[in-house]
Amino acid sequence: MKIIVCIKQVPDTTEVKLDPKTGRLIRDGVPSIINPDDKNSLEAALQIKDNDPDTRVIVVSMGPPQADIALREALAMGADEAILISGREFGGSDTWATSYIIASAIKKIPDYDLILCGRQAIDGDTAQVGPQIAEQLGIPQVTYAQKIEVNGDTIIVQRQYEDFYQNIEVKMPCLITAIKELNEPRYMTPGGIADAYSVKNVTVWGFADVPVDPEKIGLKGSPTNVYRTFSPEAKGMGRILDGSDRNTVKELLSELDNKHLL
Ligand SMILES: Cc1cc2nc3c(=O)[nH]c(=O)nc-3n(C[C@H](O)[C@H](O)[C@H](O)COP(=O)(O)OP(=O)(O)OC[C@H]3O[C@@H](n4cnc5c(N)ncnc54)[C@H](O)[C@@H]3O)c2cc1C
Repeated sequence: MKIIVCIKQVPDTTEVKLDPKTGRLIRDGVPSIINPDDKNSLEAALQIKDNDPDTRVIVVSMGPPQADIALREALAMGADEAILISGREFGGSDTWATSYIIASAIKKIPDYDLILCGRQAIDGDTAQVGPQIAEQLGIPQVTYAQKIEVNGDTIIVQRQYEDFYQNIEVKMPCLITAIKELNEPRYMTPGGIADAYSVKNVTVWGFADVPVDPEKIGLKGSPTNVYRTFSPEAKGMGRILDGSDRNTVKELLSELDNKHLL
């Protein structure tokens, strides 16, 4: 099998802050990581490879040159090849333009069977890129995968809902988005790290290498406009009502009434 895993390098959001003047993320000094859901999708690909050594796992990322580090980490975990889509022309792309660029790059990779994405990136948080890549490529997609099993030329996906799940059988080539319940990502090995920086390569594809319409990429090709970005104001302390059930309900109703919420 040939599996493509889409990986986004994201700031470690537990430490991310917004510049109150510009509304942009303060990235200086913030460590970057592989988007957590993408590690689950990579692990799923590597588990398929564990059972079938002929499987090749190709990791693809679009981002600035420093995304090389995320791809090297994926190589150190066991991916076979890495492609970094990088160029000034791609900057400013919204999710639609991003998925168009990634899909156009994937069209250059022949005979893939499966594309794995994370459900959602922890910085952009839209969960749009995976489904949009599938749409651009005209292949079936299943999102929110908590279990996957290869069955001949199909994949059986257990798709998570809030209080139930669906089993869906999907024919390859297809795209699946992973959630954290899918597996426990493996760690890099010392040998894997050495290979990632010596034997294996990150191939960089710039604007000239990806067949895209320049009108459909970057800010110009992005239909989304961010009106304003801000951190929500911290809420005041809540109030815990104490006492007998009858009195607490009475007090709660009177509180809601005072606030004209009833
Ligand atoms: C108007 C506008 C301008 C923007 N300008 C910029 C900019 O200049 N620079 C910038 O970095 N961002 C920019 N962004 C944000 C950028 O569009 C999103 O980060 C990107 O499209 C991914 O969306 P997301 O983070 O919501 O990913 P999601 O849709 O939540 O991600 C889902 C999955 O898709 C895959 N995926 C997502 N992004 C990538 C990627 N880049 N490479 C590989 N796989 C990926 C991963 O598997 C991920 O788990 C801009 C957004 C808007 C709306």
